[in-house]
Amino acid sequence: MRIGQGFDVHAFGPGDQVVLGGVAIPHTQGVVAHSDGDVVIHALCDALLGALALGDIGQHFPPSDERWRGADSRVFLRHCRELLHARGYALGNADVTVIAERPKVGPHAPLMRERLAADLACPVDSISIKATTSERLGFTGRGEGIAALAVALLVPVVPSPGAA
Ligand code: MG
Repeated sequence: MRIGQGFDVHAFGPGDQVVLGGVAIPHTQGVVAHSDGDVVIHALCDALLGALALGDIGQHFPPSDERWRGADSRVFLRHCRELLHARGYALGNADVTVIAERPKVGPHAPLMRERLAADLACPVDSISIKATTSERLGFTGRGEGIAALAVALLVPVVPSPGAA
């Protein structure tokens, strides 16, 4: 088995929605980002790439590359799935924590889990989404930005009996 961890931050800025875990959540602000600024997916991608010792999301999808301007981060996640499957691994489970005072994540967590599981070709119960505030402390507490932490465990894919 292999384990990886990831962390991501984006600053809040002008806008009316925040994309988290592939779900657009209406909000009084957006995030400043080259892509859609999905901190959940960015942290999760870094956990997956970390588990494979394949660098980080910035190396695979450079912010300097115009192709990724406004990109749907689910494209990044599906690319990570291809990388891990190509190396003989599947996702065992992943656990993500969003750190923000707002927006509220809980009501959207079921749909986020569904979308992440679809992109990673795994059961929904392999994906956990949690959220916490930082008790109004620090940049997340002051509402200046949003952060996410992720850990992922990869398990080797065992060929089924009878498979050539
Ligand atoms: Mg990011």
